[in-house]
Amino acid sequence: MPELPDITIYIEALEQRILGHTLERVQLASPFLLRTAMPPVTAVEGKQVQELRRLGKRICLGLEDELWLVLHLMIAGRLHWKESVGPGLVPAQSRGLTKFAKNHLATFQFDNGILSLTEAGTQRRASLHIVQGEDALRTLDRGGVELFRKANGTSTQLNCGLGDFIDLESFTRVVRSENHTLKRALTDPRLFSGIGNAYSDEILWHAQLSPVKLTQKMTDEEVLRLYDATRETLFDWVMRLRDEAGSSFPEKVTAFRKEMATHGKYREPCPRCGAKIQRIRYATNETNYCPNCQTGGKLLADRALSRLLREDWPRNADELA
Ligand SMILES: [Zn+2]
Repeated sequence: MPELPDITIYIEALEQRILGHTLERVQLASPFLLRTAMPPVTAVEGKQVQELRRLGKRICLGLEDELWLVLHLMIAGRLHWKESVGPGLVPAQSRGLTKFAKNHLATFQFDNGILSLTEAGTQRRASLHIVQGEDALRTLDRGGVELFRKANGTSTQLNCGLGDFIDLESFTRVVRSENHTLKRALTDPRLFSGIGNAYSDEILWHAQLSPVKLTQKMTDEEVLRLYDATRETLFDWVMRLRDEAGSSFPEKVTAFRKEMATHGKYREPCPRCGAKIQRIRYATNETNYCPNCQTGGKLLADRALSRLLREDWPRNADELA
């Protein structure tokens, strides 16, 4: 599932392309995508894009008349951009629904190009909400604290940093507000905005903390380590993904990247100590960690963890959304 770094790069790429441009037409290829009835799709057609915003793991396109198109890519949803080839000419892809590939969910035709949404696999999880006004937009907010804050509002400015990282005191308050395993706390969208399965693995590896450590048992020093690791991991990945995308649209969005230390690296050597990366599998999720750096040499056996996993572990994609 695209998380804060991926969504940030998507938004920056969209800002460069569609900010100030008019959304001419929306075509939905899947009846399952749109989760709202009012305002209708036609309400956003002909409107200019005035703002791009991230809301948790959602991408929000703000249009005239306070209309918002809110996309959640879930696990396999991806965006693609095709520039118009010339005035009055649009790419073949937009000429009719029949041209759409099977995994194609929607097309947003702007006056300068086409943004399309695809979703790999057979499960239709990605969603689109169309809402009007800030209050309606806020109902889609899961409530997790924003880790990077812009002094001048929430919108991402071009060529600008992520904003100030949350202060340690606020971060600590959120970490200790409930007693959860660290894995669950980091990925809970009610606690933190934008972190999912992949970056939580990376953050915990950087912090050298166990994914099953309970948050209310953490020492001040451990919270500080988590705080630093969260900031550095997210910041580094935004920079890395920004470099990778360059001036092109981010087409290689994935939760598994070769530069990651633990996520998706089961049985591969830990880049810090060389021990084999281990995993905890539960429901549809896999958590990866280094037993040497993070759990004091202990292998976390799935069976011994059964109660913790049953009660205090992210279960499925919907819980992480
Ligand atoms: Zn290690």
